[in-house]
Amino acid sequence: MIFHRSRHGVLIGLVTIVAACASRSNGPSVSPAPPAAGATQAARQTHENLNAVLWMQTAAEYRASTMQAYRLAQLQLDTALGDPAWTAATEQTGDVSSLPPAVILDLDETVIDNSAFQARQVQDASAYSEEAWNRWVEERKSGAIPGAIEFLAYAKSRGVTPFYVTNRDHKVEDATRDVLAKLGVPVTAERDAVLTRHESGWDGSDKSSRRQSVAANYRVLLVVGDNFEDFVSGTRASVTDRAALMQKYEAFWGRKWIVLPNPTYGSWDGALTFGMTQPSDDQTLAAKYHALKTER
Ligand SMILES: [Mg+2]
Repeated sequence: MIFHRSRHGVLIGLVTIVAACASRSNGPSVSPAPPAAGATQAARQTHENLNAVLWMQTAAEYRASTMQAYRLAQLQLDTALGDPAWTAATEQTGDVSSLPPAVILDLDETVIDNSAFQARQVQDASAYSEEAWNRWVEERKSGAIPGAIEFLAYAKSRGVTPFYVTNRDHKVEDATRDVLAKLGVPVTAERDAVLTRHESGWDGSDKSSRRQSVAANYRVLLVVGDNFEDFVSGTRASVTDRAALMQKYEAFWGRKWIVLPNPTYGSWDGALTFGMTQPSDDQTLAAKYHALKTER
């Protein structure tokens, strides 16, 4: 959730198009709320995220996709439990057969649904900021990703401990734990199972050292996330290099690594402006149009 940099371009023309489409629809009357002209400097046109957020909030296909992912996770959990040499953590080496089983999950857009925060940014044409994000977290209004709670209950029934490796800041860990409790997400009391950023010297967004800390004491059966960086280091790279890294771990996907869909933000988005230093909205938008493939 932390890195939303450069997600929003200026698409003033789209405001008109969106309003026109809404007025032509046969559906219920809606009042599109485009940002006012002459918006403040902090405001941005965020219509490039309009479809993505709506897909996560309204599409049956999204709910079906996340349920499908978690049902696959359940099947793979059984497979992993039956194979004492199995580990899903690249950080884990040596004989792992005597270690108790665990799974590592990301939180945001993996277990926790923050699409309302994304929707507010679209509605208000507001830019992402860590302050706004932490305010949202403190509201404790996040929901659950479809399929997650059922999977976690199953894992618990099989004696598998879930660990949550999140780039939420340590200072919002209390609010995070409150939301997990509200949603019925199992959190073991035996160990610290919510591993946040800026906790225990984990200052970076790279999650490898936190996966390693779990792997020191547990056999990691699965890793579940919505962002490539939930699985392995080195994902903040160009589109081409990310594709090569994905291919390198081809055998892991759908077996040891279960990925959830998230079209609204993630390291995939940063890849489109990789190598650019603090690109402006215009530069970001230009880079995104440049990345469009209009021929096979
Ligand atoms: Mg996430």
